[in-house]
Amino acid sequence: MQKREQLYEGKAKRVYATDDPNVVIVSYKDDATAFDGLKKGIIEGKGAVNNRMTNYFMKKLAERGIPTHYVQELNDRETAVKKVRIVPLEVIVRNLSAGHFASRYGVEEGLVFDEPIVEFSYKNDDLHDPLLNDDHAVALKLATREEIAQIRTYALHVNEVLKALLSDAGVTLVDFKLEFGKTVDGTLVLADEISPDTCRFWDSKTGEKLDKDRFRRDLGGVEDAYLEMQRRILES
Ligand code: UDP
Repeated sequence: MQKREQLYEGKAKRVYATDDPNVVIVSYKDDATAFDGLKKGIIEGKGAVNNRMTNYFMKKLAERGIPTHYVQELNDRETAVKKVRIVPLEVIVRNLSAGHFASRYGVEEGLVFDEPIVEFSYKNDDLHDPLLNDDHAVALKLATREEIAQIRTYALHVNEVLKALLSDAGVTLVDFKLEFGKTVDGTLVLADEISPDTCRFWDSKTGEKLDKDRFRRDLGGVEDAYLEMQRRILES
């Protein structure tokens, strides 16, 4: 596969065209941002961890019937994926209270929900990704009612698969964010990444945070947390 011109540079990834019009290459950076890009830094080695972990999860999810954009890992940091048009929704699944859920509703972190919560935000940096419901998303034509139903079903299935894989690694899946896209032929697929940047991972026994909250909250040991997750998921 031939890498061509850069199409896009985001906060944590670059996207390149290839000689195949239906395939792009994603390149993971070590750059980290938080709080709407107000906090910036570098997490050494993060790009490689996130690339490999995302691909591992995407393959497991595909085996269990969830369509994804994954095509082929090219090297430590780069992966070929199907070209998609991203549905402008951030799909968040929560098993325990944390982050914005805890602050928005004034509850402590770590409450265990009886059922997972699926939540949507409008993916729009200028508006700071406002929370919205299905009716809002349909009215704004971000997705159809049917697509939203399908996304919810996929998101809950992803949650079950990830929870099981992580539980085997001694990790509690607190919450995570997914993005979906539509391929050139109109198929809805899971896209973007599944990594310590986009999930909250707590050690099942100690509750130690093994994700980007270490960066967001200046807890130290940021690189070590990413490497520990790599060790538990990819090297065992
Ligand atoms: N998340 C993300 N990107 C975002 C917002 C959230 O990957 O732009 C992830 C975040 O890492 C966490 C989950 O989605 O695992 C829920 O995040 P929350 O809404 O609590 O917001 P946060 O406190 O992370 O800003």
